[in-house]
Amino acid sequence: METNLKIYQCAIIGGGLAGLCLAIQLADKGISVVLFEKNTYPFHKVCGEYISMESWNFLKELGLPLDELNLPRITQLGISSEDGFMLNASLPLGGFGISRYSLDNYLCEIARKKNVTVIDNCKVFDVYKTDENISKIKTSTGIYRAAIVCGTYGKYTPVFIDKETKPSNLNYIGVKYHIKTTLNSNRIELHNFKDGYCGVSKVDKDAYCLCYLTTSLNLEKAGNDIKKMEEAVLYKNPFLKKYFTESEFLFKSPLVISNVSFQKKDTYKSSVFLAGDSAGSITPLCGNGMSMAMRASKLLSQLLVNYYAKAITKDQLIKEYDAVWNKNFNTRIKSGYYLQHLFGKKRTTDFTLRVLDRLPSLTKKIISLTHGQTF
Ligand SMILES: Cc1cc2nc3c(=O)[nH]c(=O)nc-3n(C[C@H](O)[C@H](O)[C@H](O)COP(=O)(O)OP(=O)(O)OC[C@H]3O[C@@H](n4cnc5c(N)ncnc54)[C@H](O)[C@@H]3O)c2cc1C
Repeated sequence: METNLKIYQCAIIGGGLAGLCLAIQLADKGISVVLFEKNTYPFHKVCGEYISMESWNFLKELGLPLDELNLPRITQLGISSEDGFMLNASLPLGGFGISRYSLDNYLCEIARKKNVTVIDNCKVFDVYKTDENISKIKTSTGIYRAAIVCGTYGKYTPVFIDKETKPSNLNYIGVKYHIKTTLNSNRIELHNFKDGYCGVSKVDKDAYCLCYLTTSLNLEKAGNDIKKMEEAVLYKNPFLKKYFTESEFLFKSPLVISNVSFQKKDTYKSSVFLAGDSAGSITPLCGNGMSMAMRASKLLSQLLVNYYAKAITKDQLIKEYDAVWNKNFNTRIKSGYYLQHLFGKKRTTDFTLRVLDRLPSLTKKIISLTHGQTF
């Protein structure tokens, strides 16, 4: 396998939000970066595509012309129970909608313009040290070398990072469609059903994202047939039945991911710095994983810049990144874990929503736990 001669200051594995944002910020500081993405841009991804406003300014600073894109601004929330009860609330900070197809592609274009070597259609198979200062990255298009390697590969930990990763007992599947429907563009709805929930909100190009998360057990019970599961389980929520039966579906078949689990992982493992879902992920009901991935890229890039400037040692970089990651995300991930248990169970969800309907200040407090401050 051919070895590339150039030694990059940073190699990034995975070109989702954490990876692309990290690459752009480092390139802005004159650092040489190579980024590997196994898919070919642009491509769709399973994601609810609601981004908390906390990331708006950050994305603009990276060079995304958000004001010109005419994106839906989302300020209203509706949460329904399987029994058909709907809790309505305002979203104090709110969010905006953009498909991952568009967003990741915009960021990839910005990264390329800023001289990041973006290599897509390229899977990383291994990372190993040749000496104290250089790592080799074995990929489907050859071997690359870099001083620092960052893992932003998302929710599935590869074996070269952790051989011990065991599948979680509670596995989820994620399913996404783009649809045409009549929901107000300033509204996001979350519809609960047995062991799952489904979000609907507007994105770019006049499409709506309909994306749900449920246990793999629900799918198994329906003979691994998505359509049958939707009819048997999701349709029990009257709002969902309406979306499924009265909307125009824009994908030929849904986008599906499996073996999804939500947990805190490591910030540094096998000599690789981790950010975004690679370091820890949150359930979409309870937090904004995309904003967390972008925020983590900012925290890591600032420390990496100090390291390249020789202002901190590698040991300090490892410790300080871990500390700052925990400070920013630990409470959010923990509160997400507890919130998750209130939903997806018929009676508890219905009861919780009816109680929250009478306690708007508590509803506001819970919503604020799922959104962070701008950064
Ligand atoms: C069902 C569902 C709905 C969600 N809805 C929302 C939402 O509405 N709002 C929100 O804020 N968050 C949401 N999230 C969470 C959000 O999608 C993630 O937190 C976010 O995408 C994390 O970004 P990332 O950059 O860490 O990972 P990703 O965006 O997953 O990017 C990782 C990239 O790495 C690439 N890759 C992986 N392995 C390799 C390899 N070996 N070599 C090369 N490339 C590799 C992948 O192809 C991928 O492009 C949702 C998640 C799920 C599961």
